[in-house]
Amino acid sequence: MNVMEKGRTGCGALRAADEGSVVELCGWVNRRRDHGGLIFVDLRDNDGVTQVVFDPQHPSFQAAEHLRHEDVLRVRGTVRRRPAGTENPKLATGEIEVGVDELEILNRAQVPPFAVNSDDPVDENLRLEYRYLDLRRSRMQRNLRLRHRIVKAMRDYFDSRDFVEIETPMLMKSTPEGARDYLVPSRLHPGSFYALPQSPQMLKQILMIAGFGRYMQIARCMRDEDLRADRQPEFTQVDVEMSFCTQDDVLEIMESGMRYVWKAVLGVELPPFARLTYDEAIARYGVDKPDLRFGLELSDVGAHFAGTEFGVFASVLGAGGSIVALRYPGGASLSRRDFDALTETAKQFGAKGMVWVAYAADGVKSSASKFLSEAQLAAVRAAANAEEGDAVLLFADARELAYGVAGKMRNEVGDRCSLRDPRAFAFCWVLGFPYLELDEETGKPAPAHHPFTAPAEGQWELMESDPMQMRAQHYDMVLNGYELGSGSIRIHKPEQQRKIFEMLGLSPADVEHRFGFFVRALEYGAPPHGGMALGIDRIAMLACGEENIREVIAFPKNQVGRDLMMEAPSTVPEQLLRDLYLRSTVPADGSR
Ligand code: ASP
Repeated sequence: MNVMEKGRTGCGALRAADEGSVVELCGWVNRRRDHGGLIFVDLRDNDGVTQVVFDPQHPSFQAAEHLRHEDVLRVRGTVRRRPAGTENPKLATGEIEVGVDELEILNRAQVPPFAVNSDDPVDENLRLEYRYLDLRRSRMQRNLRLRHRIVKAMRDYFDSRDFVEIETPMLMKSTPEGARDYLVPSRLHPGSFYALPQSPQMLKQILMIAGFGRYMQIARCMRDEDLRADRQPEFTQVDVEMSFCTQDDVLEIMESGMRYVWKAVLGVELPPFARLTYDEAIARYGVDKPDLRFGLELSDVGAHFAGTEFGVFASVLGAGGSIVALRYPGGASLSRRDFDALTETAKQFGAKGMVWVAYAADGVKSSASKFLSEAQLAAVRAAANAEEGDAVLLFADARELAYGVAGKMRNEVGDRCSLRDPRAFAFCWVLGFPYLELDEETGKPAPAHHPFTAPAEGQWELMESDPMQMRAQHYDMVLNGYELGSGSIRIHKPEQQRKIFEMLGLSPADVEHRFGFFVRALEYGAPPHGGMALGIDRIAMLACGEENIREVIAFPKNQVGRDLMMEAPSTVPEQLLRDLYLRSTVPADGSR
């Protein structure tokens, strides 16, 4: 039974053994039914639901007649067994009901814009506008409670491994994690700004320099990025850093942590996490966050098409590109129209086209049958491990593009073939990332992780000769095709840190302005150190079997970054702007 205030019983608590007790219950009207001259109310609180019954002889009967969904009540009454045949086995309290002696209506509710007592689908914008009602529904109650247990288990685990939780400030200087900063203008220092943390990266490293050895924090981070389905402008990470460690030490700590959380919260015993290099992940799955709940590994079949007369393949191979094959189990039964639709999907993922081959029992069909020899069809089938009844999809393009599209289509095929069971958990590590990647916006080389990451052993020479080939001591934890988080072994020598900044094109003056305090701290005996951060929102989403992180965040922003309940962001009074020495350049009609 839940512990309630003195004298109050939780609405999920009562059982047949409580028959005859006089109890007081408080809660919301989940449902009201008038039946056989009696009024039945299902009273709901965070503990559960209890049926309370109003008798026509009783003075509160008239008031009960006017009760509406979500009115807030206090009732006193006597627990009695439900008449035989009317028990509700689906309800924990289904054997009993409470005959009401006293009713107090604590508050009235407007008619809710959607049913609170069911998890039926409701337009998401409406749910977010009336989030307090949405949060009353059982799905959100369940999700947020599970999330709480995940965070608690994490804290318990890191505590047991001697990590210290230390809070770092929200008003910071910018730490680069590859996104724009949210800025907070300073009233007391006109023209200066704090940045909200993209992560506590530099401060956690400074805590290592400060001798804390093992740090963790349930950290709020803010990144001003374009929104995607699984992204929010602010999010929560379990942020971790440790001294005198190797990459393997960090992987062990984090992997054991996830194993602890899954056992404590879901009762699931996780096997050791698979480990893949970045190159392997791309070659086998086409993405650096592979979903390992299913196989369907990719293969490069380019070698079988040397000298082909099929123009598309010939030109791709001539330019040094790849032809990547993906098996579609049972795909031979698809119609030409189905294959056309699949080709459209591939195009949305960036493909220029798609060739399909269907290995049906009554013969092989293909969108390019004129150009493919018997030997080639057999070689493709063997390379893709296709059986009779399967299809094979082929993507020809520059290597990165061909694999990228094939990787996305692999997930698509996984969905279509129901290979992505939401109750299965396939964790893995991806290791050995390139140090640099080309920034999508600027086209310039930027760190694949962040500039505090150490290059892999023996890679410093490449910095001069071929920086794009440099590898990093950077690792990602991946679950079911989602990146849960990244980390790295850090640079701890100030001269090496300066070299990296220089490679990234920062002038000594830039370095001093943005990172001077940090590089100076490295000069005072920084220990070797490394760490990682995992996204709690994604972890909670996958643990709850949800497909969207908004389902595990109490007050999320919508897809365009708005809080529909508070109506944020919003304009502010002119005077506030003046106090901050700011003037808006946005025209009064809001246009830009
Ligand atoms: N600061 C990194 C991030 O937020 C994680 C890490 O390197 O520890 O992604």
